[in-house]
Amino acid sequence: MNERLSRRDFVRGAALAGVAAAAAPEVLQGFAGAPAVITRAARSLVIASANGHRYRAGGRQTAVEKAFASLTSGADVLEACVAGVNVNELDPEDTSVGYGGLPNAEGVVQLDSSCMHGPKKRAGAVAALEGVRTPSLVAKAVMEHTDHHLLVGKDAQRFARQMGFTIEDDLNTDTSRRLWLEWKRRTDPEHFPGKSRSDAAVRAGLSMVADGLIDAEHFWGTINLDALGPRGEIAGATTTSGLAWKIPGRVGDSPILGAGLYVDQDVGAAGSTGRGEANLYNLCSFLIVENMRRGMHPKDAALDALRRVQKNTVEKHLLNARGLPNFGLVFYVLNGKGEYAGVSLYPDRQYAVCTENGPQLLDCDALLTGTASDA
Ligand code: ASP
Repeated sequence: MNERLSRRDFVRGAALAGVAAAAAPEVLQGFAGAPAVITRAARSLVIASANGHRYRAGGRQTAVEKAFASLTSGADVLEACVAGVNVNELDPEDTSVGYGGLPNAEGVVQLDSSCMHGPKKRAGAVAALEGVRTPSLVAKAVMEHTDHHLLVGKDAQRFARQMGFTIEDDLNTDTSRRLWLEWKRRTDPEHFPGKSRSDAAVRAGLSMVADGLIDAEHFWGTINLDALGPRGEIAGATTTSGLAWKIPGRVGDSPILGAGLYVDQDVGAAGSTGRGEANLYNLCSFLIVENMRRGMHPKDAALDALRRVQKNTVEKHLLNARGLPNFGLVFYVLNGKGEYAGVSLYPDRQYAVCTENGPQLLDCDALLTGTASDA
């Protein structure tokens, strides 16, 4: 909670909004298409990756605070999620998302994002989008203004231009450019694009993490934010600059439904940060939501998905000396009852939540002990 918005004001504002919402009709207005009938009353809740309560983009609120405040002042649930992740997209200090995100191997910032609206049963996404600071807003525009789900690359940018978004030549900041040049210095470009080159690239990146030049959460980094609104409405958004120094055109899990994000209005929401390929191989967000549909608590649902990831991780270069995955993967999960969990492969990660009690960073529950790099 920041100084200018006291905790008491925050809680009072949220409580008033809750009262207003409780008195609201059960049929939600304002959605495109048929109005959605929501029968469940719930306490409002926002869950996000830990960077959702670290950056403020020069403003007063972090992503979870912003999303919660919007949600409890009557905003549409997905509007609230996107308003939240916009904070990280616009903050140049968050080098894992949006403007100032770490670029690909050619020094170009390429962004992926998806969003999903529970009551509307619609979703939108963009991948490998260049030049727009807020890819989550473009993903939402795909959802709202087209009959498609996913636009990619130059054509996603053309769509964004047509929708009135500002297109910039370069989304690098001095920091992201300096770090990319350091990575170039540490890698051997002659091996491009073989597996040995991938290994060398990851080694160079991890050596930059070890040297304190970037933190692990920004080598792989993203923001996922999911929300449960006062009338039980559920939505989520995921947005990222993807794996740092990726091969140009590489798309991770973030814009892929069922991987980086999945929402089902009857069940709940799940989203992820971490090694996208491991998530894509197992479509974990979908698996987690389906596990919850069968009655599992968010924590158990996500642990089950991580067990699947561990079982399906067999390539030697992805295993540490203990034979366990040598990467991080985290899921942020909530259900319609307002239960939630942040669950990671290893116990070194946090996640953010915001409820009527204010924002908090909490430790993730973990599947494994030790660290990803354990010898
Ligand atoms: N999951 C994202 C990707 O693989 C990046 C991350 O969260 O680290 O693109």
